Amino acid sequence: MFRIPNGIFEQYYEVVDSLYENENIGDTTNLITSSRTQCPNCIHGATSVYKTGGPIPFQLGVCPYCGGSNYINSETTEVIKLRTYTDKRKWIKVGNADIPDGSVQILGRITDLTKVMQASYMIFFPLSDWKYKLDSDPFPYGFGKKNFIAYCIKV
Ligand SMILES: [Zn+2]
Repeated sequence: MFRIPNGIFEQYYEVVDSLYENENIGDTTNLITSSRTQCPNCIHGATSVYKTGGPIPFQLGVCPYCGGSNYINSETTEVIKLRTYTDKRKWIKVGNADIPDGSVQILGRITDLTKVMQASYMIFFPLSDWKYKLDSDPFPYGFGKKNFIAYCIKV
């Protein structure tokens, strides 16, 4: 029976891990998560009504805090390292899934999985300011499929 000694797996992880540690390899990625919260300043009806205790009291018309939408949009940014591959020939094989044109494959650590999945979009600063969104399910890869994840993203 063919068996791979455990040491080889560990070496592999060390090599791949070091790719992420090296500042020059792996692209700095801003993960941006948008969230929408209810305006703390108004109660929404046909016109806005001041909510007692809100930061900007008003009497009539549109709430000055949210402009009348009754929601506040905010974004949080987290910076992680991902490797990006625009050349499909260099992609990790991700089964038989159809790959849409214009996709980019990104590789990241499994420890960043939740952040990547929850991000509204990602920007590869300073390479470009295009907003990429996830375009595939996460695909675990590597020996044991437990340390790294491949994804497809699209503008
Ligand atoms: Zn408001």
